[in-house]
Amino acid sequence: MKRRELGRTGIFVPPVGMGVLTVGRTQLNLSVAEGAAVVRRALERDIAFLDTAEYYETYPYIRAALAGTDVRPVIASKSLAQTYDGMKRAVENMRSALNLDVLDIFLLHEVRATPDFESRAGAWACLNDAKAKGLVKAIGISTHYVDVSRMNACLPESDILFPLINLESLGIRDGDGPGTKENMAAAIRANGENGKGVFTMKAFGGGNLTGSYLKALDYVSALPCVDSIMVGLGSEEEVDRLADYAEGVIDRSYAPDIRHKRIRVDRGDCEGCGACIRACPNSAISADSDGIASVDREVCITCGYCAPVCPVRAIIMY
Ligand code: SF4
Ligand code: SF4
Repeated sequence: MKRRELGRTGIFVPPVGMGVLTVGRTQLNLSVAEGAAVVRRALERDIAFLDTAEYYETYPYIRAALAGTDVRPVIASKSLAQTYDGMKRAVENMRSALNLDVLDIFLLHEVRATPDFESRAGAWACLNDAKAKGLVKAIGISTHYVDVSRMNACLPESDILFPLINLESLGIRDGDGPGTKENMAAAIRANGENGKGVFTMKAFGGGNLTGSYLKALDYVSALPCVDSIMVGLGSEEEVDRLADYAEGVIDRSYAPDIRHKRIRVDRGDCEGCGACIRACPNSAISADSDGIASVDREVCITCGYCAPVCPVRAIIMY
């Protein structure tokens, strides 16, 4: 696969990467051996770009996958840390967990709006210091927000933007309201033009667009200034199809069988707004005693009507 430089970082990545979250505890919950086999398959297929996070608890899968291979992928991680010390711990944790002296990419995870970035000034200062000390090669921001993406374009210290974008605008936010793919695409372009590296998330909208596999990937691939597309992968079959796509050899009639797919709510993200409950035509969602949405798998028909109304992309198809 061809490599492309992530902005001006000197880090070169393939056009697609593997989101390792999928194999971990919060999604498929594969054993370390099973999950590592999926990561290893990605490396064998030249998808040598991995995305993880402190919160995902997936470092053991990556470490196991790297044992027994000479491939050295680019690894991006991130932390929800708010403070300098919290971010310092997150960086040290990754260095230790993966036995790495120097990390490729470390990001502020899920910056929700400009005030959130300002409130995490300590964590951001820590990342700047880590880069100055040579512990991290490139730093930046992951976000679902158009306004945050715009801000990143003008943030001199930031090397990377990891934004959410897909062809249905699922989960894109802008300030206090929903955002559009057009505005996010413009923000991505501004980042690229200012020398930031950009790799994207949620091309399939949390699984809701998997049925439009080629269309969804084609949309993001065609966006200016996107260096790579990060895709959550949970099986060797999914790895192979993504590699085929990136190599231009996929059967253009390919349509994954998504009949086994299920919907679930990420309890950490759900804000209890109730929009999904109102949107579900099958009364498959209810609020639990904490006010958090919960899906009845026996009733859900995976129609996907609920996901677009969720303001925080807490509804995931897996
Ligand atoms: S996928 Fe459809 S049936 Fe299932 S919870 Fe969402 S709206 Fe309801
Ligand atoms: S729409 Fe999203 S945030 Fe609102 S209750 Fe449903 S899952 Fe939670």
